[in-house]
Amino acid sequence: MLRLCPASRLFQVSVAVAGLLYIAAQPPPARAWGNEGHRLINRLAVSTLPAGVPAFLRSEAALNEIEYLGPEPDRWRSLAEPELSAAQAPEHFIDLEKADALGPLPRRRLDFEARVYASGQRPEKIGLQPWEATEIWERLKAALREYRNLAAAKQDTRAVEQAVIFYAGWLGHYVGDASQPLHTTIQYNGWLGHNPHGYTTGHEIHWQFEGPFVAANLHAPEVEAAMTPPRAIQGDIFQSYVAYLRHSATYVEKVYRLEKAGGFVGQGSAESRAFTAERLAAGAGMLRDMIYTAWLDSAKPAPDPYAAKP
Ligand SMILES: [Zn+2]
Repeated sequence: MLRLCPASRLFQVSVAVAGLLYIAAQPPPARAWGNEGHRLINRLAVSTLPAGVPAFLRSEAALNEIEYLGPEPDRWRSLAEPELSAAQAPEHFIDLEKADALGPLPRRRLDFEARVYASGQRPEKIGLQPWEATEIWERLKAALREYRNLAAAKQDTRAVEQAVIFYAGWLGHYVGDASQPLHTTIQYNGWLGHNPHGYTTGHEIHWQFEGPFVAANLHAPEVEAAMTPPRAIQGDIFQSYVAYLRHSATYVEKVYRLEKAGGFVGQGSAESRAFTAERLAAGAGMLRDMIYTAWLDSAKPAPDPYAAKP
């Protein structure tokens, strides 16, 4: 290894310091709930699953793995994996204002993408949230059906159990993202357009709310206390998921109101803490109910693809 003369060492240190200052000056990427919120949502969902769900999915090992996977898709945002980062970024959000302007949301991702391209836009500018969540839920249901088949045939289920745990953890990320109102709107990070209430137009609100404020102030007990009781989701999963997204979207302005009142600085206020706990609880409750429903629905036999069409 070449020894460096003091001058070039000084130069190297200067470059390194300048690099760190540059990194520190960049706003953190939008990650919805940050590391802590996503882990909390995934852990609470699994720890409150009804007893009818197989024991392997409620085990301590599954709980720890699914908690770890809460932030997993945010680990795919690195520029070290540029193709993956670009392809999956739109799956974390949807700007409902833009999506709804194109008509009722189609059930299938490719149909939506075709409609977006036909309008002269691109899907990554609008978001693919509900399609990603629905597709992963269907992966989870397919894996649970395999689990049932193997268990019924008295075969080893350990391999499929690993797949189920991964899908449940992966799903949790998007369900969690969708409970953050700012992941449903063009107003995702600073108010745009007509602004009679004087909401912030700076680009800090998104991360301030979901990152440092959650990490400093929100804990499992108050979030669990705000969760609804477990229930099986009735009817169409895509429509139910879109309804859940639309409910989140009703709170967009509330996030801005709370921010304006200083609700996400330091300890915030009782109102901002209760609101944030309720949003995290909505994510955890929806994830729990989606896992439970995937288990129940996995008992239905898959249609025979070779059956004669009516
Ligand atoms: Zn996300």
